[in-house]
Amino acid sequence: MEAAVGELLAPIQPALKLTTNLCLLFFVVFSIALVFWTWRDADRRGVMPWFWALVVLLFNVFGWAIYMVVRPPESALDARERELEIRAKEVELLREGQTCPACFQPVEPDFLICPSCMKKLRKECISCGKALKLDWQVCPYCKTKQ
Ligand SMILES: [Zn+2]
Ligand SMILES: [Zn+2]
Repeated sequence: MEAAVGELLAPIQPALKLTTNLCLLFFVVFSIALVFWTWRDADRRGVMPWFWALVVLLFNVFGWAIYMVVRPPESALDARERELEIRAKEVELLREGQTCPACFQPVEPDFLICPSCMKKLRKECISCGKALKLDWQVCPYCKTKQ
């Protein structure tokens, strides 16, 4: 009986072995990726990256689950960095047409000159009269060359 089963499985034996090996390989790659991810995440949050990498290495997904539960929220430093980034973007936006580049008074995006210092901010399209940036070669509203 046993011999019969062995005979039956014989043709697919290599395929079975390959499948098992592939599963094993996937598991190994997955584990390494998990360890690496945990190490980097812990490093970013400043909580003993080597310790947590070791925990995940030893307990795999369970170690990772524990880490996910006890890991601190993103560090204050990170939050502050993001805040600074947003502030910088705001300043950039302000500079981009929201304030006069000469006197820094607030101006509307369609102002042709600054009402405070008379600086020329935009030019009028020769065809449709919309406010264009001074370096625009063509009007984006009516396609007329300037
Ligand atoms: Zn001005
Ligand atoms: Zn135009």
